[in-house]
Parts: sequence; structure tokens; C-alpha cells
Amino acid sequence: MNIQDMIEKWNSFDFEGYFSKVTDGDIGNALAREHSDEYDLLALLSPAADKYLEQMARKARELTVRHFGRVIQLYIPLYLANFCSNSCVYCGFSARNRFERSKLSMDEIESNAAEIARTGMKHLLILTGESRKDTPPEYIADAVRRLRKYFPSVSIEVYPMEKDEYRMLKDAGVDGLTIYQETYDRKVYSEVHPAGRKRDYAYRLDTPARGAEAGFRWVNIGALYGLADPAKEAFMSALHAKYLQNKYIDTEISLSLPRMNEAEGGYHAKYTLGDRDYVKTMLAFRIFLPRAGITLSTRERAEFRDRLLPLGITRISAGSMTTVGGYDVHSADVPQFEVSDCRSVDEVVKAIAANGYEPVFQDWVAL
Ligand code: SF4
Repeated sequence: MNIQDMIEKWNSFDFEGYFSKVTDGDIGNALAREHSDEYDLLALLSPAADKYLEQMARKARELTVRHFGRVIQLYIPLYLANFCSNSCVYCGFSARNRFERSKLSMDEIESNAAEIARTGMKHLLILTGESRKDTPPEYIADAVRRLRKYFPSVSIEVYPMEKDEYRMLKDAGVDGLTIYQETYDRKVYSEVHPAGRKRDYAYRLDTPARGAEAGFRWVNIGALYGLADPAKEAFMSALHAKYLQNKYIDTEISLSLPRMNEAEGGYHAKYTLGDRDYVKTMLAFRIFLPRAGITLSTRERAEFRDRLLPLGITRISAGSMTTVGGYDVHSADVPQFEVSDCRSVDEVVKAIAANGYEPVFQDWVAL
């Protein structure tokens, strides 16, 4: 079954009805099993799992240490541009928002790179808005070639591309791809993406697979929590990750759990994933997908991020700016989202060590 069929099949599943029948025994079974299936995942995401968070945390911690050791890898984002041809209702970069757009020149990219490299960061995630016209694949490839002089690992979070374009970017030095489905709910998807190429739900859903087929070393996916029912989004994204993990065994698959800030792009989230449910979701991910990476961004508050560290996180951002450039003199005033953890790289490093984990700047070298 391909991912489109799989998501389609589960989209018509009665989640509420199933959740209302989950018993303590179902949670116990899900926690006892070495390899959990979809129904175990549903049990762990259900309200009945709320009173088992301690047991879930113990199992998640043990699985994380078994598969990843006590290390947390650090990365830092760099926005190259904020041009966008889409109109996502929840984003400050939407084409509907009128503000002066900007894009870094190659020299500006290098000066930002030099500033960031001074912090010791080695893994860089580059982002653009989704405008193929303003930031074509060749611009991104040129940027990557410049950035690779400073960073052994450069990954991308840009518009979806064809497999050949991803191959070209891989040859330029890209090793990882982040692409969020935003919401797996088709109806909500078309409501929150009223215009632009991003309206094509199916094309976006197949994007992580194209990245894996192009040979990226790791692919990171997820939903943006706040747009649709969080438990259903969590279930679908974990299922998507499992599908990719089974099909592309040479690619490391990881998940993110970005939550929408209060009024992102002036849009008020319809659903809330509270802190307790956030923790439960992350634990359920770890138990369902013991080998998957879990990425945590600076959208979350510092104290909350510190509490999550021992529960399954494998990659964390630090020292982030979400405006274009932002690390040197060049800076636009419109951020894509507000950063909630404003600590420096040093402060995040200390917090990781204080939790008994080793902060890792570089865990491998691309040849
Ligand atoms: S979420 Fe991405 S595609 Fe949508 S408006 Fe923002 S930058 Fe553009």
C-alpha cells in the first residue's frame, strides 16, 4: 500500500469512537510489547493513556538511550529568503501579507555563515519561503556550496522539489531534508492553503519519499499542531514516518512536533496541543518508532525544552533567528514565527549537559 492509500484509509477511521473504548489493559499491552503496531500507537495517544505518562516516560527514556545513547545533536537555522508564492493562512510569510521581501546575496550568506560558525555550530538548516521563482534550486545549490565551507552538514527546509532537483542539491552538499505536511486532514489542508502550489496535498505527501529516493541521509517530517485534531495528526505523521522508515532503510527518518504560536500570521489556532499532551505525543512517537530521530525547535519555551531532553529528543536547535539573515547586520523585521527559547548556543549546551546528556555539534562528516 502506498502512503496516499494508507493515509486515505485512516482518514475515514473513527478516532473518537476508538479512543473512547481504549482500556487500561490496552495501554499495558502497548507498553509491554517490543514492537508496537498502529493500535498500540492509538492506545498511547488516547485520553486513557494520560495516567500512564510516568510508565511511558520510563520506556521512552530507555529506548532512546538504547538506540541513540545519551547524546543530543545541535543545529541552527538560517533563513536565506522570505519570498513566498503560497498563502498559508497561519504564516507570516504568506504571499497575502504585504511587506518588503528580502533574499540574501551570496556574500551575505557567507557573512552570516561566518558569524554562526563562531558559535561552534556545525549542522546548519537553511530555509526559504516557498517561491521557486525567487529562490530557484540553482540559488539554493550555490548557497549550499558556499555554506559547506563553514559547515560539514547542511540541510534544507524549502519548497517541495522533483527527485532530480533533490539529487542536484545532494551533489551540492545537502544531506538532510525537512518537509512538513502541516496537516494530514485533507479538508483542513485545502482550507488553510487557499492558493499557490502548496494546495497540492498529494504532491506534498510524496515529497519526503522523493527526498529519500534522491539519497538524502536524513528526512524530517511532521504536522503543524494547531490546524486539526492533534491526536489524529500525531497518528498520521507517525504512520508516515514508519512507512518511510520501512521503505527507505538507508535514510534516517525523524519527526518534529511544531506547535503553532498564539496567533501565527494573525491566525488563531483552532486546536491546542497542551504541554501534557505534547509530552504524551512525543513519548508515543518514541515507543512506536524507537529508531526515529525526534527534533525539537526553539518554538518551545526554554524550561519546557529542558524537561523534554531526557524523554526522547535527539536533535535540538539553539541560538535561532527566524528573520532572513539575522546573524549579521542584515535583518528583516518579519519573522516566520516567534522564537520562544532565546538562549545562546552556550546556554543550551550547558542545559543539555546539566541534564546528563552530551551536546554534539557534529556526529559525522560528509565526504
Ligand atoms: S508556511 Fe511556508 S509555504 Fe506557507 S506561507 Fe509560510 S513560508 Fe510560505
